[in-house]
Amino acid sequence: MSLTAARRATLAALADSLLPHGGALEPGAADVDVAGQLDSYLDRCAPGTRRTVNLMLTAFNLSSIASRHARPFRLLGAPAREAYVLGCEKSKIRQRRETLIALKALILMFYCSDDRIKPLIGYDGQPYKKVEHDPGVVELKVEQPDQGFFETADVVVVGSGAGGAVAAKELAEAGLKVIVLEEGEHFDRRDFTGPPPERLRRFYRGNGLTFTIGVPTISLPIGRGVGGSTLINSGTCFRPPDFVMEAWGMDTAEFEPLFADVEATLNVEPVAGDIMGANGEVMDRGRRELGYSGGPIRRNARGCHGSGVCAFGCPLDAKLGMHVTYLPLAARAGARIVSGCRVDGLVIENGRAAGVTGSIVDPESGAVHRDARFEVRAPRVVLAAGAVYTPALLQRQRLANSSHQVGRNLRIHPGCGVLGIFDEDLYAWKGVMQSYYVDEKLQDGILVEATYPPPGVGYSAGGVGGKGSDLKDVLARYRQTAAAGLIISDTGTGRIRATPGGGLLITYNLHPDDLRKMLEGIRLTAEIYLAAGAIEVHTQLPGMPAVRKREELDWITEGRWTAADLKLSAYHPMGTCRLGKGPESSVVDQYGRAHDLPGLVIADASMLPGSTYVNPQITIMALAARNARRLAAEMS
Ligand SMILES: Cc1cc2nc3c(=O)[nH]c(=O)nc-3n(C[C@H](O)[C@H](O)[C@H](O)COP(=O)(O)OP(=O)(O)OC[C@H]3O[C@@H](n4cnc5c(N)ncnc54)[C@H](O)[C@@H]3O)c2cc1C
Ligand code: SF4
Repeated sequence: MSLTAARRATLAALADSLLPHGGALEPGAADVDVAGQLDSYLDRCAPGTRRTVNLMLTAFNLSSIASRHARPFRLLGAPAREAYVLGCEKSKIRQRRETLIALKALILMFYCSDDRIKPLIGYDGQPYKKVEHDPGVVELKVEQPDQGFFETADVVVVGSGAGGAVAAKELAEAGLKVIVLEEGEHFDRRDFTGPPPERLRRFYRGNGLTFTIGVPTISLPIGRGVGGSTLINSGTCFRPPDFVMEAWGMDTAEFEPLFADVEATLNVEPVAGDIMGANGEVMDRGRRELGYSGGPIRRNARGCHGSGVCAFGCPLDAKLGMHVTYLPLAARAGARIVSGCRVDGLVIENGRAAGVTGSIVDPESGAVHRDARFEVRAPRVVLAAGAVYTPALLQRQRLANSSHQVGRNLRIHPGCGVLGIFDEDLYAWKGVMQSYYVDEKLQDGILVEATYPPPGVGYSAGGVGGKGSDLKDVLARYRQTAAAGLIISDTGTGRIRATPGGGLLITYNLHPDDLRKMLEGIRLTAEIYLAAGAIEVHTQLPGMPAVRKREELDWITEGRWTAADLKLSAYHPMGTCRLGKGPESSVVDQYGRAHDLPGLVIADASMLPGSTYVNPQITIMALAARNARRLAAEMS
């Protein structure tokens, strides 16, 4: 077992205070042994995850000593524990509140994922629509070495996500010998089964527990596997708005065929009415009532049956991630895709990038096979390890950084969830997970997206405040609840720093203007839900009661909230090796070529020069294709 007896007792006491026996859903956390389930789950997680959860439990247990209760949490009687939990939720002491929120999210996820609780919520986990055409498994040949190796290629591509996969396909189709090195495991629809915690554990880096450090702490999940974050993303496909492209000095006409090509390869289409589900429909109703701009989201899917679990891997591979599109195309053109290979350095020869080195890792645990090293020599290196890991790789060798911008300018599109409760049954988890958008305030950097992950997870758990019977009441009304996430295009920026021993630090503080946008966005979402007929709207602002009338919307924007009051998550890290004209202020040129290191091209989210304002995968893919085509032309 991963937890000591004392920590497990703290967890059980907290779970019981939040979800006691009785009330609107009769079983309590103890009845379904949430503490035991979480403990044995941690046994299967990475050591870092176990450390984080242990640390949170210790911090939470001891935090009550400095309160009026003056004793460790697990030693308090039930009434005192409940009073302390309620106090924490509204506490101005950020660490106290954030630790509670993180532990509560884990407890809710395990509680709501339990087979005894799901039927009480009304969650049957069944798809919305019968599948008419089974899309079939796309067989992708992926090599998984178990010992070190030495190879040569024309181009070595590091990372197989949105950027790396597209680059690999373009380069291989140009006739170049391409090797793609990916740290994660190869999964497909046969693996995308099981409850959400298991899927977080397998398909997310750090088992889904990755955060930025700053005010507030922001959860920043990232995918890890052949296909990168496209394996577990929501499938939303926006082109960047023209005003963004123009601000970046990019010619929209030149990009038009690139976007069209990506969209054709990914079968990008608007969500059809028969798989939209009620979560999208209520947003449609509200936005029409208000006359706001929006519509069904365009997505990369074929044969989708609306099971609503896109962020946990699509059980049909109907969502067309890189593992069933660009990577098979790359392989067909001769590229080799190799998994379980963590690149940790670039080979530099005569001042040029000339290959990469790294270690073979256990694909599931990520543990390094210490004596199994590999080296791939190639006259061109394409880095596409994502906006967090690409800059860290360069920093470790102090490469390509005369601009001092490597790792800086991190943008993440901070986001938060809002819940609308209706007096009708919605079963909002039935249908496409992210289905409908409202872009009325996009120019101001606010984008609202109807998003409903499985009950008790992510945005669907985000707005749930309280404990005991209040919390159970909200859970019992899940079937009448709609959920939306709003993202803002950030003015502020954060930073990636590689730390000794192979670690890294992600720092990010919310900019005051981004706090304003976030509050505006929460207000906009609440307004849409009220216009759609919601009887109450739950924001995540600490201590704020549910909003029931339009007049109460001012509570959101006129309250004295600070950044520390927000509960945020973010899914779009970008900008940490930004492109630009020269080495004074940017890392790469407009084709991703490093200003300071010949032979190195960057082709992932790190090259973006700023916020995309919308979900970024299509922008990343189009830029990666452009970089790769230019590189192939240079090498021919
Ligand atoms: C839950 C979630 C939902 C999202 N939803 C959407 C959406 O609906 N629409 C949208 O547009 N965007 C969405 N995104 C964001 C989108 O998926 C990313 O912006 C995009 O995938 C980034 O592409 P990338 O190539 O930069 O990195 P990734 O796709 O993350 O790929 C990077 C790859 O590099 C590998 N790697 C890292 N370090 C190394 C190393 N040292 N050696 C070898 N391999 C390495 C990683 O394991 C990973 O597979 C979502 C993201 C998440 C996490
Ligand atoms: S809703 Fe998402 S997970 Fe479900 S079938 Fe469609 S694309 Fe796949």
